Amino acid sequence: MKLHEYQAKSLLGRYGVPLLPGIPATTPDEAVAAAEKLGGPLWVVKSQIHAGGRGKGRFKGAVSDAELAKAAKGEDAEGKGGVRLARSIEDVREAAAEMLGNVLVTKQTGIEGKEVRTLYIEGGCAIDKEFYLSVLLDRSNNKVLFMASKFGGMDIEDVAESNPEAIIKVHVDTAVGLTDFNGRELAYALGITDRKAVNRAVGFFRSVFQAYMELDCAMLEINPLVLDKDGNLFVLDAKMEIDSNAVYRHKDIAEMRDVHEEEATEIEASEYGLNFIKLDGNIGCMVNGAGLAMATMDIIQFKGASPANFLDVGGGAKQDQVEAAFRIITNDPSVEGILVNIFGGIMKCDVIAKGVIEAVKQVGLEVPLVVRLSGTNAELGKKIIDESGLPVISATNLDTAAQAIVDAVKGA
Ligand code: ADP
Ligand code: MG
Repeated sequence: MKLHEYQAKSLLGRYGVPLLPGIPATTPDEAVAAAEKLGGPLWVVKSQIHAGGRGKGRFKGAVSDAELAKAAKGEDAEGKGGVRLARSIEDVREAAAEMLGNVLVTKQTGIEGKEVRTLYIEGGCAIDKEFYLSVLLDRSNNKVLFMASKFGGMDIEDVAESNPEAIIKVHVDTAVGLTDFNGRELAYALGITDRKAVNRAVGFFRSVFQAYMELDCAMLEINPLVLDKDGNLFVLDAKMEIDSNAVYRHKDIAEMRDVHEEEATEIEASEYGLNFIKLDGNIGCMVNGAGLAMATMDIIQFKGASPANFLDVGGGAKQDQVEAAFRIITNDPSVEGILVNIFGGIMKCDVIAKGVIEAVKQVGLEVPLVVRLSGTNAELGKKIIDESGLPVISATNLDTAAQAIVDAVKGA
């Protein structure tokens, strides 16, 4: 589960990770009140969306399409970005009014952009050096990985490509915790040498590690991590992702979920307890069981097409879940054909068949549909579908089913 910058910072603050003071705002008046409360003389008005590259992003409607296209590629474009310095209360109001309710396009949002609904008003700071820091789980050796680079504020992918030795990696053993040695290694890599500053940096990394572990983070990126003139490190930008499987342990974090940032279809799917992930292809798949879903996607690919989604209705789906699943798939404009592939175990094929037929009656069927039912009550399921009079192609095995839907889509 992704969090906004202001939410990530509020969580990091609980662990004593140094930050600048800041207040979220959802209207220009709130932004002004926040700025007054923070006191000047410098503020930064920051758009809160689940995407990075906001500084270089541009707003739809405020610049030409050509400049927007540049912003979507991460290039420097004309116009004002989604992170702005303000030197007066009036500047804060103006920036807030220009950002709120508008769509910000960045390298990470792509050209469709994301609507800015919340701002973070933060105190401005004097930056001596900008670094990059990220923390993630390295599954290959069961350790937490800290990646740091002196090249902060810019795209780490670019650094990785042009200057890979500039990224240093420090593995932290979770049973031991972040040691002083780990902390010093990171500090030296960032060019921090003053003894007192190194000690403070070690404390900084230790707090970050503690936050990462206790909050059940899947990923934490601090870019830039800033060093001020007095040798103190602090967080200027934070991107945090919490392990979705652990969110139940953190009621307060669960409440931070911002559904506006999620795909509408994925939200509807989660309401029905369906496991749905939107993909780039054109064949919608409705499958029971994650393993079967994987196999179905593989075989579609093997037959020369690609899946439009991953949809697992689960082991014991009810009829209304099947209807919702079907509705979600057909609502996707990129779907040119649908493959229903069900292996009835606990799940009964006749329930699936009824669900599909109900859904087709409700939402209509404008693309070819292939249904493959196998296992418990498969015969009954097939009979229900055949007698429905709907233009559904039945198949008995996965190979012919996949071939049938790929042929139907290609022929159409
Ligand atoms: P993004 O990565 O989405 O572009 P950042 O929060 O990293 O957003 O902000 C972009 C740049 O703006 C930073 O690299 C930094 O130079 C500057 N910046 C951000 N917050 C502040 C602040 N509070 N004070 C001064 N400069 C800031
Ligand atoms: Mg950043």
